[in-house]
Amino acid sequence: MTSSTGESPLTTPSDALLERLRDIYRDLHANPELSMQEARTAGIAASWLRDLGFEVTEQLGGTGVVGLIRNGDGPTVLLRADMDGLPLRETTGLPYASAKEGVDRFGQDTFIAHACGHDMHVTWLMGVAHQLASHPEGWSGTLLCVFQPGEETGQGARAMIEDGMVKRFPRPDVTLAQHVMPLPAGHLGWRTGTILSAGDSWEVTLYGRGAHGSMPQKSIDPVVMAASTVMRLQTVVAREVAMTDSAVLTVGALQAGRSENVIPDQALLRLNVRTFKEEVRDRVLGAIRRIVEAEADASGATRKPDISVLSQFPITRNDEQATRRVVAALEGTFGTEAVSEIPPATASEDFGLFGTAWDSPSVFWVVGGIDPDLYAEARSRGAVDTLPANHAPDFAPVLDPTLQIGLKAMVSAALAWLAPAQ
Ligand code: ZN
Ligand code: ZN
Repeated sequence: MTSSTGESPLTTPSDALLERLRDIYRDLHANPELSMQEARTAGIAASWLRDLGFEVTEQLGGTGVVGLIRNGDGPTVLLRADMDGLPLRETTGLPYASAKEGVDRFGQDTFIAHACGHDMHVTWLMGVAHQLASHPEGWSGTLLCVFQPGEETGQGARAMIEDGMVKRFPRPDVTLAQHVMPLPAGHLGWRTGTILSAGDSWEVTLYGRGAHGSMPQKSIDPVVMAASTVMRLQTVVAREVAMTDSAVLTVGALQAGRSENVIPDQALLRLNVRTFKEEVRDRVLGAIRRIVEAEADASGATRKPDISVLSQFPITRNDEQATRRVVAALEGTFGTEAVSEIPPATASEDFGLFGTAWDSPSVFWVVGGIDPDLYAEARSRGAVDTLPANHAPDFAPVLDPTLQIGLKAMVSAALAWLAPAQ
């Protein structure tokens, strides 16, 4: 064998398959499900895998699905797609836009939208499963297709692992995942080492003492305590993180009181931290705890604040050797022009937990989803940052060629282990 994977029938999906996948994508897009509630999506993936001859395990860690197919000797490759949508109202105006509603994990009614592109990830992996299952002559080894719940809340990968995933399935020689991002469609981005930041979200409850608004001397005012805490937290990145390091600390929710003449008895903060290094993460989280507790003390609070973890994402690290192998495969399929090194992003993922759980190398790369003409036009105006990005209500990848590119990319990467060119 001398050819690159670019010429393989595996990386050339038929028009009929692509047409089916387009319908599946539009259906998933119109029917998003919130984190850890992805029963419908999981059912679609599971029956697709079953029809292709995979051994299918359902309800792993909630709604997780694993499809396993053995095809002779060779390495084991794990491919992962996340399935969840987000609690927001879609404004794309697409004919297949979502109008779905549901109840989020805080018990709030909400609209639901696939604003992070996980519907594309599910469709890609279904296409990849189809290509490998219907061309057994083109590869050898074991394939694990993982449809993961709850990525957005950082719950899903952990839930699957806690449900015995490592014991129930063979150890992968590599774990692979890809994410649609606001790069031009047709373009792929990679890097070795840290590619995504750690993400930590906390909820802080500050306790004061309620009183009449006219008698502050009888209160311990949690509004002032919260205001002071929020301002002091701004000094963490400015004064405690070295210039050569970076971090983000955002207080995204601040809630206290309802009425102008009642001093409430508590206040709530929800905050989010992004870091690229373990030691910076420890330093920032330590500083937050110290400031929250000290500000409560400074206000004379008689009860310590409560701090609870809303979510925790590890740093996403790409194994150097495995990444080089993926990049060579992507360049073989798409050419070197389409594949470029990108800086680390301040987004977070729980995908890395699979590699850590098995002690397997993992590689995560990104796939452009923006209409290339639109992207070029925005770029010529210096306005790339105004294009909709993941989690924006008007973000949705352009179906073609994003669907085909992601499908071919993941097949190519998997074949770098399952059918390496010689
Ligand atoms: Zn997301
Ligand atoms: Zn995502």
